[in-house]
Amino acid sequence: MGNAEQMLSFAASRAPELAAPGLSPRPRRKVAVLACMDTRIDLFAMLGLQRGDAHIIRNAGGLVTDDAIRSLSVSQRLLGTEEIVVVMHENCGLKGASEDRFAALLVEDGVLPQWRLGAFDDLEGTLRHSLERLRACRELPHREHIRGFIFDPETGALRELGVAAHAAAREP
Ligand SMILES: [Zn+2]
Repeated sequence: MGNAEQMLSFAASRAPELAAPGLSPRPRRKVAVLACMDTRIDLFAMLGLQRGDAHIIRNAGGLVTDDAIRSLSVSQRLLGTEEIVVVMHENCGLKGASEDRFAALLVEDGVLPQWRLGAFDDLEGTLRHSLERLRACRELPHREHIRGFIFDPETGALRELGVAAHAAAREP
């Protein structure tokens, strides 16, 4: 049985717990999280989120693409969020990937897309640039609370950009 069939039957057996009667589509905690689509990142468990708390926007890399900005703009302007948290991570599939080689694969298949893969070498620098782009983004009315986190799937540590992984836990 394919995944789609399994997913349908799984959902069908759980409709009562999936139902959210009366739950507002406006995120309760007024926050949107932009994160990499990596399978090792469980945002709800990691950030202490419950259903209804936050908008979750995921893409390859957790990059601030035009479409991520579209979603964040909807999140703020139509659905009331005021904070953004961006989550990137160690060992991302885009780190060290080749923009040129990826483009060549697409050209082989006869397409020349308008978007870039988004490959990067410098994780912190890329996240810093993403935060700068968001803070300059006039599509977003709320830009005072934009933070960037880096997750390490090997250790489970989540740290803020520019802060060492163990600094938060260190005794004063
Ligand atoms: Zn990733």
